[in-house]
Amino acid sequence: MTTENQYAMQNPVTQYPQPGFPEQPQPAPGSVHKLKPHADHGETSYKGFGRLAGRKALITGADSGIGRAVAIAYAREGADIVLNYLPEEEADAREVVALIEAEGRKALCIPGDLSQEAFCQTLVSQAVQGLGGLDILVNVAGKQTAQKAIADLTTEQFDATFRTNVYALFWLCKAALPHLPAGATIVNTTSIQAYQPSETLLDYAPTKSAIAAFTKALAKQVIGQGIRVNAVAPGPFWTPLQPSGGQPQEKIPTFGAETPIGRAGQPAECAPLYVLLASQESSYITGEIFGITGGTSIA
Ligand code: NAD
Ligand code: MG
Repeated sequence: MTTENQYAMQNPVTQYPQPGFPEQPQPAPGSVHKLKPHADHGETSYKGFGRLAGRKALITGADSGIGRAVAIAYAREGADIVLNYLPEEEADAREVVALIEAEGRKALCIPGDLSQEAFCQTLVSQAVQGLGGLDILVNVAGKQTAQKAIADLTTEQFDATFRTNVYALFWLCKAALPHLPAGATIVNTTSIQAYQPSETLLDYAPTKSAIAAFTKALAKQVIGQGIRVNAVAPGPFWTPLQPSGGQPQEKIPTFGAETPIGRAGQPAECAPLYVLLASQESSYITGEIFGITGGTSIA
């Protein structure tokens, strides 16, 4: 599924599929190929304008969903990219590699589990080595597993969600910062859940609050070095995260219907914001959280 031309003026309400998705359980971490309808990651539509020419970017969660759209957009804006994802997501990631290479940009794959500190350190050092430096760190990877009752939320799940969403962010930023030059940027991914948490996301929602606070605090700490840190707070986006356990399955048919715009966002609609926050165009923006929610307030 893709829109003909995302740059043509049109009604955003009807630009993409409306709620009424079929229930479609798939095992986590999920694949873009099992989404019905398919999601738009900008494969055929995103146009680059040289905003990230020559930049070196590390993107986590780059195989699918929001991270896939960001990787495609960054390559079209002229960046070389290291993609991180889980080993079982190799097939989705290979398609992103092909799209990056089609732009004449470098795509290096470093799959692995971000919930392990040692891997986070290895990922950063291999990315720096492979790209010849690092200018942009984009933290997109995340774990979301809905549980209807606190009694069903195990310590193991609570721990895994925090390790993947919060600890990995800390480990990756800590490892990357010594390599980042003035002008470099970090873009994190929080959520509407930091502001309006769902009753089924007792572990996930607080990880997203932590990411928002971490972003603001780190931004103050490193702006003196000329490094900016911001975060994107998506509302409901049509990605494998949701039908693979992120939502109770019965919520999938109406996913996104509760937003003022009345539909789920498509990953392609997120990518331009990640581009802006990584590029020099956002030189006076740091420590900010940007909602991209179809109209639901993050205040
Ligand atoms: P997605 O499933 O396409 O991407 C999530 C990615 O996280 C996976 O592809 C996987 O590569 C990665 N990941 C998960 N656990 C990992 C681990 N232990 N090690 C390494 N990688 C791991 O879904 P998405 O919706 O594009 O999610 C991207 C980000 O957007 C997440 O941080 C998510 O919390 C956030 N977000 C999504 C929505 C939404 O509605 N889809 C809303 C708000 C925020
Ligand atoms: Mg994936």
